[in-house]
Amino acid sequence: MKTAIQPKYYITTATCACGNTFETGSIKQNLRVEICSACHPHFTGKQKFIDAGGRVDKFKKKYGI
Ligand SMILES: [Zn+2]
Repeated sequence: MKTAIQPKYYITTATCACGNTFETGSIKQNLRVEICSACHPHFTGKQKFIDAGGRVDKFKKKYGI
């Protein structure tokens, strides 16, 4: 059985490709990331919600609700 040696864990500033910076915990300092909460489609995917809303409206019209 191998003894796990914990690497040193820093609180560092991560810089995203979109220009956003945020603090995160990492074993590396001055982290660079390609995607963050500000530019990730999951967080900026408002288009999807608008789309879904449009579909609901069509559904309502179709059934005269
Ligand atoms: Zn970003």
